[in-house]
Amino acid sequence: MIRHNGHLQAMGIDVWVRRAVPGAPGRADAGESGPLSAALEDLQEAVRACTRCELHRTRKYTVFGAGCADADWMFVGEAPGAEEDRQGLPFVGRAGQLLNAMLWAINMSRDQVYIANVLKCRPPRNRDPQGVEVKECEPYLHRQVALIQPKIIVAMGRFAAQSLLKTTRPINKLRGQRFRYSDTDIPLIVTYHPAYLLRNPIDKRKAWSDLLFALEVVANP
Ligand code: URA
Repeated sequence: MIRHNGHLQAMGIDVWVRRAVPGAPGRADAGESGPLSAALEDLQEAVRACTRCELHRTRKYTVFGAGCADADWMFVGEAPGAEEDRQGLPFVGRAGQLLNAMLWAINMSRDQVYIANVLKCRPPRNRDPQGVEVKECEPYLHRQVALIQPKIIVAMGRFAAQSLLKTTRPINKLRGQRFRYSDTDIPLIVTYHPAYLLRNPIDKRKAWSDLLFALEVVANP
């Protein structure tokens, strides 16, 4: 349950509070398996050199993904923003801070999960990704998933959800359901994008129930 601290609540700010969650991984350090990490590094190299779409012209860095190579949980967002482009890492801006808090609330940390985006390069001025960009970039995410073999994929936001599920249904119709990623048996669930939650904190409650649902899915494969 999200607990509200009185004065923060008065300011309209939700507080994500960590609690014991059945089915959540322990706090042991994330393990890295050698060959798996090597395969991911090779893929990362390919992404670094990628010129398949026009976004390579305006990017500073590619944003491949980050986290534990054999993570059980994979979180997928839309595309790098300005800060991610500057650092070459996913979710390091304000939305990333909220994602960290969400992870913390279910007793997880960034180094225990894997975080990636549908697009590996920043669309200029954070415009919506275009179809051709998604099409060219998709094989990279597909390969990441194949290597990591997570127990669950959490698609964050309308764009990630719709492009991973190949649907145009609105996010509210996609939340609370258990899907499968592409042609795999890997369960996929949908929640709001942290950037959306920053703008619409009222929906943090729903995001919290999505995370609880995700825990349930992992516990009942
Ligand atoms: N928003 C995203 O979708 N991805 C990031 O990496 C950062 C912000």
